[in-house]
Amino acid sequence: MITIQPLFGTNGIRGIVNEELNPEFITRIGEAIGTYFGSGDILLGYDARTSNSILSRAISAGLASTGTNVHEAGLAPTPALQYAVQNFKLDGAVIITASHNPPEYNGVKVVADDGIEIPREEEVIIEEIFSREKFSRRRWSELGVISKLSGVIETYKEAVKHHIDAAAIEKRHFKVVVDPANSVGSLVTPYLLRELGCEVTTINAHLDGHFPGRLPEPKPETLGKLSLAVNSLGADLGIAHDGDADRCIFVDEKGNICLGDRTGAIIIEYVLDRNPSSTVVTPISSSKMVEDIVRRRGSEIRWSKVGSTEVSRQMLKFGSIIGIEDNGGVFYGPHQPVRDGAMAALLMLEILAKRDKPLSELVASLPNYHIIKERLDCPNELKQKVLEDLLETTKSYNRTTIDGIKIFFDEGSLLIRPSGTEAIFRVYAEAEDERRAREIAELGMSLVEKALKLF
Ligand code: MG
Repeated sequence: MITIQPLFGTNGIRGIVNEELNPEFITRIGEAIGTYFGSGDILLGYDARTSNSILSRAISAGLASTGTNVHEAGLAPTPALQYAVQNFKLDGAVIITASHNPPEYNGVKVVADDGIEIPREEEVIIEEIFSREKFSRRRWSELGVISKLSGVIETYKEAVKHHIDAAAIEKRHFKVVVDPANSVGSLVTPYLLRELGCEVTTINAHLDGHFPGRLPEPKPETLGKLSLAVNSLGADLGIAHDGDADRCIFVDEKGNICLGDRTGAIIIEYVLDRNPSSTVVTPISSSKMVEDIVRRRGSEIRWSKVGSTEVSRQMLKFGSIIGIEDNGGVFYGPHQPVRDGAMAALLMLEILAKRDKPLSELVASLPNYHIIKERLDCPNELKQKVLEDLLETTKSYNRTTIDGIKIFFDEGSLLIRPSGTEAIFRVYAEAEDERRAREIAELGMSLVEKALKLF
C-alpha cells in the first residue's frame, strides 16, 4: 500500500532549498507534472531566487523526459507568465518561485491552460503520479524539446497598459517610488511607470536572490525604507511588490503603509462606478468593509475560500470583473482573473488621476471597522470534529460555511476558522465600535471553547 504524499500547500509546493527541495526531488516533480500534462507545450519561468538556476534545470529535465516541450521564459513575474500561457496558446506553465517566503525557500506553482493555478483535485493527480512513480518516461527519440521563449515581458506590459487610461496618467507626471524586493517586479513596474510619464525612483530594484534590501513579503515591518523614500522625495505614491510580483502594497503620499484590503476596496469602488451591477469576489477572511462598499454600489459580493486560486476560480464561475485579497492581491477580470501586481499599480495610478485626490484621502473615506484577532490551541487531529460541532451550534445564525464559519451581524461579523498550517483555531471579529467587536470576539471564543471541551 502506497501512501499518497501531499506536496501542494495553498500556493503550490514550497520548501527550503536542498532540504525539502533538492535537484533530485525537483526532477521527479518535473516528471510527475510532465506525465500529468502529457506531451504538450509548457512554459517555464522563475523569480530572482539564488536556487532558480539549479531548480529550473532540474525541473526542465524532468518535464522533457516525459515528452513535454519546455519553453523557457527565464526571469519574469508570476502574472506575466500566467498571461503568456494564454497569449502564446500553451498548455500550461510551471513557475519556480516561493513568492513572499524568505530567501532560503523556493517552490513550484503549476498553471493550467487558462493561466490560473490548477485546482486542488488536479494537484491530487500529480501527487498520485509522484507517490506511485507512474512517470511516463519516453524513449530517446520522443523526448521533449527545451527551447527559449522571448517576448513574455514585453507582451505582458502591453497587455496591462491596454486596460488603463494612459493619457489620464501621463498628464499628471506622478512621482512614484517602487520597491520590487530585489526581484522580478523590477523587470516590469518601473518601466511601465516611466512609459506612462511618471518620475520613478526605485529602491531594492537590482535582481539579487539574497534579498539584501528587505524580505520579499511586503508588510509594514519590511517597507520602512519605502515609506521614508516616499516622504523624503515628496512622492505621490509608493509601490511594493512581493518576490514574484503578483501582489502590490501601496504607500500613500504621507508615507503611510496602506492595508491591502483598503487599497483593494478603493480599486473595487472605482471599477464598480464604471461597471454597475457587477460581481466582486473576495475570500471569507476579508473585512465587512469590502462587503459594505460593494453593496452600496448595488453590486453583489461572492465570498470564496481563502487562497488566490479560489478567488480566481470563483471569478470565472460568476463572470466577476474584480477580486481582491487583504494581502495586496488584486484580480482584474478584463485583463486576467489572477493576482497581478503591475495591473494593481497601474489601476491605482489611473484612480489617483481620475479621482484627483491623494491616496490618503481616498483611504480615509472608507468605512472603518475595529478588528480583533484571537487564536485558540486545538490539536490538528481534533480540528475537523470541533468544526463539525461548531457547524451544529451556529446553525441559527445568519452565516456562510464556505471555509470555516462566518457569521454576519448587522454591525459586524465573526469568522471562526481552523488554521491550515498551525494547531489553532482563528477567531476574527469586527464591528463598527470597539465594544461590540470585543463582544463578538468573546462570543467566537466561547463557541470554540465549548466545542473543545467535548473532545
Ligand atoms: Mg506572490
